[in-house]
Amino acid sequence: MKIAFLGLGDIGAPIASHLAREPFDLVVWNRTSSKSEEFARNYKVRAARTPAEAVSGVDVVITCLPSSAEVEAVVHGENGILGAMRKGAVLVDCTSGDPPTSRSIAAELGGRGVEFIDAPVSGGTSGAKAGTLTVMWGGEETVFQRVKPVIEAFGKKIVHAGPVGSGDALKAVNNALLAVHILSTAEGLAILAKAGVDPRVALDVINASSGRSNTSENLIPQRVLTREFPRTFRLALLDKDIGIASVLAEDLSVSTPLITLTADRFHEARKKLGDQVDHVEAVKIVEEENRLELK
Ligand code: NDP
Repeated sequence: MKIAFLGLGDIGAPIASHLAREPFDLVVWNRTSSKSEEFARNYKVRAARTPAEAVSGVDVVITCLPSSAEVEAVVHGENGILGAMRKGAVLVDCTSGDPPTSRSIAAELGGRGVEFIDAPVSGGTSGAKAGTLTVMWGGEETVFQRVKPVIEAFGKKIVHAGPVGSGDALKAVNNALLAVHILSTAEGLAILAKAGVDPRVALDVINASSGRSNTSENLIPQRVLTREFPRTFRLALLDKDIGIASVLAEDLSVSTPLITLTADRFHEARKKLGDQVDHVEAVKIVEEENRLELK
């Protein structure tokens, strides 16, 4: 099966690494060509010079880009894939995108005989390296069946969320909850630090109690208390995800004051800390406001 993979970023590259083997025939493209050339050397696959060249004649195209805006640009832009994908091919968009844009891309491709599913992932860069990602997809079952072996190469839990755009919606809400956990856990630990409770003692109890989350069990102990803050998932991307969740809530007239407030706080954190830092660094706004460091 011929596959083109577009977007070798923090999570795109480890996902693509699982497709660089039989029975797949992989070609990669990345905006910064040095990354695709290095990937091609390491995995003995072909690097294309343009998106159009990459997708020409392939059965499945996978995009893994920051947001739906970049997917649209790769579809329509100069040397874009719109006119270059063959009829009957499928675009699997692993970007954490937004539902309306995914639906409009699906409609446009559909008019040219190309199928689309949104297939955002969770599990982080470690899950991508291990090939154990959770994949939440939106679209038609018959389309999914054609790309199932490709998704199974990097996904462990694979769930049909609903029609096109549903995978994006589910991913945005999951990440909105992650954003809430990061800020609320940091705020809770700040209260406890001022009350004289060591953050490690606090987490020991919280993680054996009902306040626990992946943030309290893994992110804060491994990344904040150590002050290591490794970059695996940019804060700018989580800001984008919670923004998608808030817009979706507004579009659907769902009242979500907590998610809206957290979205505002993440915009603020992004403005202060920049686009390149890791998402967990958002705790620094809580630390700065309270003049303390959680360590
Ligand atoms: P990165 O920022 O690490 O990589 C983004 C990729 O998109 C790079 O290949 C970059 O190319 C490319 N890109 C950026 N802008 C453009 C553009 N205008 N045109 C073409 N290509 C472009 O992101 P991630 O790999 O971390 O994330 C990708 C998607 O996966 C996002 O939607 C994210 O929310 C989601 N995700 C990420 C997770 C993670 O742990 N990192 C976990 C789950 C989902 P270049 O190299 O030239 O910059």
